[in-house]
Amino acid sequence: MTRSTLAEIGAALRAQQRFAILSHVRPDGDALGSQLALALSLQQLGKDVTVWNEDGLLEKYNFLPGGERLTQPPSEPQDFDVAVALDTATQNRLGTAGESVRHAGTWINIDHHPSNPGYGDLVYIDPTSPATGQILFELIKSENLPMDGAIAENLFIAISTDTGSFQYPNTTARTFEIGAELVRGGVDVGHISQLLYENYPRRRTELLRELLGTMRFDANGQIASFSLSLKVAAELGVRAEDNEGLIDHLRAIRGVIVAVFFEELADGKVRVSMRSKNEEVDVSAICQKFGGGGHKLAAGARVRGTLAEVEQRLLQAICQEVKSLNC
Ligand code: 5GP
Ligand code: MN
Repeated sequence: MTRSTLAEIGAALRAQQRFAILSHVRPDGDALGSQLALALSLQQLGKDVTVWNEDGLLEKYNFLPGGERLTQPPSEPQDFDVAVALDTATQNRLGTAGESVRHAGTWINIDHHPSNPGYGDLVYIDPTSPATGQILFELIKSENLPMDGAIAENLFIAISTDTGSFQYPNTTARTFEIGAELVRGGVDVGHISQLLYENYPRRRTELLRELLGTMRFDANGQIASFSLSLKVAAELGVRAEDNEGLIDHLRAIRGVIVAVFFEELADGKVRVSMRSKNEEVDVSAICQKFGGGGHKLAAGARVRGTLAEVEQRLLQAICQEVKSLNC
């Protein structure tokens, strides 16, 4: 794989005209904030910018500046000079947003997932960066691309959500420096944080109540998990976006090393979400064995089987890792 420099990516952004800015299915704050930050900056350069996500702009992120530009892709594919995949570890995780790009002269891949194989023509992957939004900040600054209050807000949201509000171990001194610069650029931390973390619909906490009812512990309390069946999800009327962050309640328990969330999907698969609190237990490696990926301390996979089957297989695999740690 050839790695590109930010200068090469900056030159391509300036040289071309028609852009598709894409990110992964079931987007998080880093995905959507990164998409909108780059889209708004390119738009100020006078570019034609299309911003697609398979799931569109989630309700809980509808306050993101420029959010109205982000839509679900059309069924009829289109051609672009450049397609940019942001925060997307594998190209197929672009889902229908990727399929709707019939042709792009150049594919740019900007990401921070270590498991990213480096698809595309211009590739910039920095696994030391806690958020794709942080890489975009460096790109915008080093290439002197347009930046304003709306772009700063999107970048702040991207970085804040992927670092768990600047608290996960991937948060570096540089992350705080960037945070400070974004605040100087007009970001209102209290206001944004309230919209992000204190504005959930009631059904999300009702979902948490159900999940806690299924909570179980394995390996002497070092593995904590809970699960959501399709039946309970339908009864509560939950949306996929309600799940984000709930796993943190398991991670927060003393003695827990790995937290796992199993979610039954309609296609005969189970979505597995994993978090680790110990660098020596690499949940991305565990998830890769089941066709998934992610980061060392936060990873996921979609595994075929019933909820009970997948729970059993995954918990067994995690037990092995956790036990080898204790030897
Ligand atoms: P989450 O648990 O928040 O859905 O995802 C945690 C991390 O794992 C994210 O960085 C995400 O990109 C990655 N991830 C989640 N699900 C999958 C998956 O099915 N495949 C791959 N390759 N990565 C995933
Ligand atoms: Mn990310």
